[in-house]
Amino acid sequence: MTKQYVMEIDKKQKIQSLDDQIKVLSEEKVLLQSTCNHNESKVKFENGTNTMKLYCKECDKEVGYPSQSQIKEFLT
Ligand SMILES: [Zn+2]
Repeated sequence: MTKQYVMEIDKKQKIQSLDDQIKVLSEEKVLLQSTCNHNESKVKFENGTNTMKLYCKECDKEVGYPSQSQIKEFLT
């Protein structure tokens, strides 16, 4: 087994462990979001896109699309 190969395995395991952590964290996030009433919302660009969406101010969950007046307010 070459040194290079060992490093590749190491990287693979690290990524696997990071993926596991992300999974646990996102489940925790979903759980928190499910206990939220989404009383207040804010307009924000969806990650990596130029689509404007409506998110809960408190838990950051996507709650829908903004109205024309909310878009106008957001852009000014
Ligand atoms: Zn919420």
